[in-house]
Amino acid sequence: MEKRVILVVCDGLGDRPVKKLRGETPLQAAATPNLDWFTAQGACGQVDVIAPGVRPGSDTAHLALFGYDPHKVYTGRGPFEAAGVRLDVREGDVAFRCNFATLDSAGKVVDRRAGRIREGTDELAASLTDMTLDETGVAFREGTEHRGALLLRGKGLDPRVTDGDPHAVGVPVAEVRALAPEAAKTAKIVNQFMDRAREILSAHPINRQRLQDGLPPANVVLPRGAGRLAKISPVSEVWGLRFAAVAGVALVKGICRVVGMNLLDVRGATGGLDSDFDAKVSAAMAALDTHDAVVVSIKAPDIAGHDGRPEEKVRVIERIDRALGPLREAFREEWVLGVTADHSTPSSTGDHSADPVPLLAYTDGGRKDEVSQYDELAVAKGSLGRIRGVDVLPLLLDLADRTEKFGA
Ligand code: ZN
Ligand code: ZN
Repeated sequence: MEKRVILVVCDGLGDRPVKKLRGETPLQAAATPNLDWFTAQGACGQVDVIAPGVRPGSDTAHLALFGYDPHKVYTGRGPFEAAGVRLDVREGDVAFRCNFATLDSAGKVVDRRAGRIREGTDELAASLTDMTLDETGVAFREGTEHRGALLLRGKGLDPRVTDGDPHAVGVPVAEVRALAPEAAKTAKIVNQFMDRAREILSAHPINRQRLQDGLPPANVVLPRGAGRLAKISPVSEVWGLRFAAVAGVALVKGICRVVGMNLLDVRGATGGLDSDFDAKVSAAMAALDTHDAVVVSIKAPDIAGHDGRPEEKVRVIERIDRALGPLREAFREEWVLGVTADHSTPSSTGDHSADPVPLLAYTDGGRKDEVSQYDELAVAKGSLGRIRGVDVLPLLLDLADRTEKFGA
């Protein structure tokens, strides 16, 4: 029977033992009856999402989980952020993620997020987009809060340039420098764009109003994370299947879009701690009627990990588990479920680590191992062993009887 796959990716789910949690990881400490049920009925194992000892970014990790070799398709985060804010990114384009930030009268960065500006960024962005600099098309689009993305399209572009973001306050913006001779033109264009943006934004009515209201003006754009979009065959071509995705954060949305997944609009899917996990899971279940595979990305565990809040991470994990309750109840024999993470984000370090992440794979009639608990250590005893991120999707698609035979 050709089955349908639902892959839940819990961002930054993995962790390390936490003293405050009696030496358990947040996933061990959390009550997760639904995840444990699926684990008990199915098979589990560990995933080195990129490779053992390699700390993954969310971008390279998601690409790997979607079956792509990130070493081949990834040169930087920019193009995926740009696609995530609905810029039309094409092969060869160079893109950056950006912040609106605040410069003081001496030209020093005083706030890298312009007071986490929320309103008016669409108008500010509209004043910066559709420029031509040095025969290169320049597009700019706002993201959530102070975030945005810059896209360059033209001949002779190269992403090997430094950031315009100084990554510090009390210093001027950083001049963008070429890291290779071929990137000189790109560096020049980004510097020109930053200068133009500064002129336009300083005079913008939104910023005049912000100054009057005692708010930090968004009077400069700081680009970083340059990347060039490589040729990426869409998942529909690679697998001959229709994929949908439910995601909240721009970066993951962008990756899903770039690989050709049908990105569903779900109310309340914010990509934050306040995201509506129930709405995401129910949208994914509905999408299984019209797609062969659906990816659900949940950002919140990573946020709690970065914030160094293990107890919050426990609560987030318990909320995710509750959201999986209706999936468990409605689970059909023609569905395959995978639950994993893109990387670990230990709350003790506040950053991504290379600790392998748990994977469970369940379908009616699939193999079942002895493990009945979904956590970092229990799954190490599971029958799936220890695999790489690029193997996760093929493994699930094979459980769905959707893979082609190699040989006769
Ligand atoms: Zn991540
Ligand atoms: Zn993270």
